[in-house]
Amino acid sequence: MGINDRKKSAAAFQEALTVIPGGVNSPVRALKSVGTTPLFVKEAKGAYITDIDDNKFIDFCMSWGVFILGHGNDDVNNAAKAAIERGSSYGIPTLAETELAKRVRNAFPSMERLRFVNSGTEATMSAIRVARGFTGRDILVKFEGNYHGHADHLLVAAGSGVANISNASSAGVPQGFVNYTVVLPYNDEEALRKYFKENGDKVAAVILEPVACNMGVVVPDESFLHAVREVTEKSGTILIFDEVITGFRLSFGGAQQRFGIKPDMTTVGKIVGGGFPAAAFGGREDIMRVLAPEGPVYQAGTLSGNPVAMAAGIATLDTLSKDGFYSELEQRSDNFISKLEKIIAGKGIQLNRCGSMFTMFFNSSPVRNFQDTKKSDQERFAKYFRNMLSRGIYVSPSQFEGNFISVCHTPEILDYVLKSIEESI
Ligand SMILES: *Cc1c(COP(=O)(O)O)cnc(C)c1O
Repeated sequence: MGINDRKKSAAAFQEALTVIPGGVNSPVRALKSVGTTPLFVKEAKGAYITDIDDNKFIDFCMSWGVFILGHGNDDVNNAAKAAIERGSSYGIPTLAETELAKRVRNAFPSMERLRFVNSGTEATMSAIRVARGFTGRDILVKFEGNYHGHADHLLVAAGSGVANISNASSAGVPQGFVNYTVVLPYNDEEALRKYFKENGDKVAAVILEPVACNMGVVVPDESFLHAVREVTEKSGTILIFDEVITGFRLSFGGAQQRFGIKPDMTTVGKIVGGGFPAAAFGGREDIMRVLAPEGPVYQAGTLSGNPVAMAAGIATLDTLSKDGFYSELEQRSDNFISKLEKIIAGKGIQLNRCGSMFTMFFNSSPVRNFQDTKKSDQERFAKYFRNMLSRGIYVSPSQFEGNFISVCHTPEILDYVLKSIEESI
C-alpha cells in the first residue's frame, strides 16, 4: 500500500469547484483543516476504499460510521438491488417500512412508535418538534460540542458565560431561531442541576449525544447521564437521546442499552439505512401520538421510508442481531485499543474510546468536554492525517471526529494500522 499520486483526484477537485461550493457536498470532505485536498472515490469494499487514481486506502471513517459491516456488504447490496427491481419509490406505504420499524423497536424498546425520515438532521428536527408539541413548551437544551444535524435552531454556540443567551454558530440563522435554544457544558452535572433547578419547568426537551462523537469521541461520566435522566423526569422535560451515530454502534440497542438508561425519545440514523439515506425518530407512544395524522404536529417526507433504504436497513439489522456480533467487534476493538495505548504512551496524545469508535486527541491533558477538545494541537493532527494517508490509511479527516472499526477491519489490517500510527506520530 501507500499512495503514488493523487493527480486525478486533484483535477476532479478543480472541476468540482466550478459547479459545487467548495467542491464538496458536506464541508469536512474538503480536507481543508488537514491541509490537503479530497480524494475522489472510485469504489469501496470491506475495509478499503479505492480512489480514482487507483490508490487503495484502509478506511477508518466508514462513511462516518455507517458501515459497521464494511463497505459493500453482499447481503445488504443484494437486498437493495432486489428492492430497486421492484421500484425505488412510490409515496405509498410498503411492508418493508413496518418490518424495519419492528426491528428498530426490537433493538430500542424505548422507541414504542417510530417514523422514518431521510437524514439524521430531519430526525432530530422532527423529534424536537414533537417534544415541543407534546409539552407545549418552547425551550430546548443542548450541550456544547454535541452535533445534531444542521437545523437552524441547533446551529447554536454557547453565549459568553451566560447559559440563557445563545448565539447562532452559522451565518444565515436569525437570532430569533436560537432564542429558545440553551447550550450547557457537556458532562457537567453541576451546571445541569443548577439550570434545571431554576428553569426546568420551562424546558420542552433536552437533546444530547449519550456518547459524544462529533467533537471527537468524548465519553461522559455515567453519573452525568443519570443526572440528565433524573432532572428531565422531575421537570416533565422530554429527554431525547441522539443516537444517530451511537445507535447500532455501541451495542445493538445503542448507548441506552450499554448504559441502561431509558430516554423518552430517540433518533437513529447512519447504520439504520445500510448506506442509503434513512434515519428514524421515535419514543413513548403517548408522545409520538401527537404526530399528524393522529395529532397536531406536522411532519412529512416524499422519500421517507424509501423502499431501497428500508431493504438495506433490514438486511443490515438482521446481520447485526446475530448472536455474538457485538461481543466480537468489542473484543477486536479492545485488542486494537490496548496495543494503541502502549504505542502512544508518553507522546502527548489522549485516546478516547467507546466500543468500536475512538479518537486520538493531540492533547496533553484528558479530554472530557468541548473546552478540552479545543486544546488539541490541530497542526500536529493535520500532519498525522497526511502521514497516515501516505501510508494508505484514511483516518477521519478532523481532530473533532471519530474513527470507526468495522467487522472487515481484520486483526491483520489493524496491526498494519498500528505500525503506521507508530511511524506517523
Ligand atoms: C451524523 C449525525 C447527525 C446528522 O445526520 P445527517 O444524516 O448527517 O443529517 C445528527 N446527530 C448525530 C449524533 C450525528 O452523528
